[in-house]
Amino acid sequence: MPTVIEVRHLHKAYGADVAVDDVSFSVEQGEIFGVLGPNGAGKTTTVECVEGLRTPDRGEIRVLGLDPRRERAELTQRLGVQLQDGRLPDRLTVGEALRLYASFYRRPADPLALADALGLSGEQRTPYAALSGGRQQRLSIALALIGSPEVAVLDELTTGLDPQARRDTWDLIRQVRARGVTILLVTHFMAEAERLCDRVALIDRGRVVALDTPAALAERVQGGQTVRFRPSVPFEDALLTGLPEVTGLTRQGDAVAVTGTGGALAAVTAVLARHGIVAERLRVEQADLEDAFVALTGGPRPASARAPAPGPGPGPARDSAPASD
Ligand code: ATP
Repeated sequence: MPTVIEVRHLHKAYGADVAVDDVSFSVEQGEIFGVLGPNGAGKTTTVECVEGLRTPDRGEIRVLGLDPRRERAELTQRLGVQLQDGRLPDRLTVGEALRLYASFYRRPADPLALADALGLSGEQRTPYAALSGGRQQRLSIALALIGSPEVAVLDELTTGLDPQARRDTWDLIRQVRARGVTILLVTHFMAEAERLCDRVALIDRGRVVALDTPAALAERVQGGQTVRFRPSVPFEDALLTGLPEVTGLTRQGDAVAVTGTGGALAAVTAVLARHGIVAERLRVEQADLEDAFVALTGGPRPASARAPAPGPGPGPARDSAPASD
């Protein structure tokens, strides 16, 4: 598959605050690629550089072979963007917003069909300010897709949506991908990344700390199991520490705690059984995915003053507004 997005050694600082230190990844055509990480990790800055909204201090970016800053006008026709804080004027109705944004593009989607696909067909005359948070979110997704983009960048896709709307949105994104659209998705939600993304870059403090399929990433961050028990008879540590599934063994009194990979429980109980040792009061602890995610990324960055992203909202209207870096 051809590479659609290429990011090489991206670096971007705001004054002394380094938002993106060194980020590299590439996204293939038709992929749903997730950018995951804690608050302040540098996700939004990274995708804003991909969109051409920010100028990198260092590094190279190509989207559909185009330089997002120098060839922004052409890229805007082929890239759909959902901004994290993309508010619209209060009195603009859903129908007006869709028709207005459709007029910016060479090959727009049918606004009515898109509204229907996003469950907004009953809201055509509703002003933006009267929409619920979830419906505003759906509208922002519709506006990202109205130009029939080849690449869509979606930031906080399902934030504010209820669980059903979230699932509906995932289905919609899968349908969009099935039409060959490449999707770059910024998310905090591990579950969203697991269900939707083909691959995920986990960003922390401006660096990619892991890049893999969600399954492989989950396996890595889950870290494995801790098996706790009290043996019916004493045994040597080496009986278990020699197993490939076991990474550590500690004792407290007559209690034993064995840590290891996802297969540790089966391996440990099999060896104990072979030696006639009964594991009494056996318990297995599995690290919670979210806990492990926090452990892997080191938690959020300290809060710092933050200027708003440039441009009034999603769509090519931002072309006229020079990006403020
Ligand atoms: P979140 O999940 O909270 O949206 P993020 O991973 O998208 O976070 P960024 O928004 O890229 O992270 O922010 C990375 C760092 O850069 C943070 O410390 C943030 O405060 C800082 N930052 C972001 N935008 C600006 C700006 N316009 N001016 C100054 N600092 C900024």
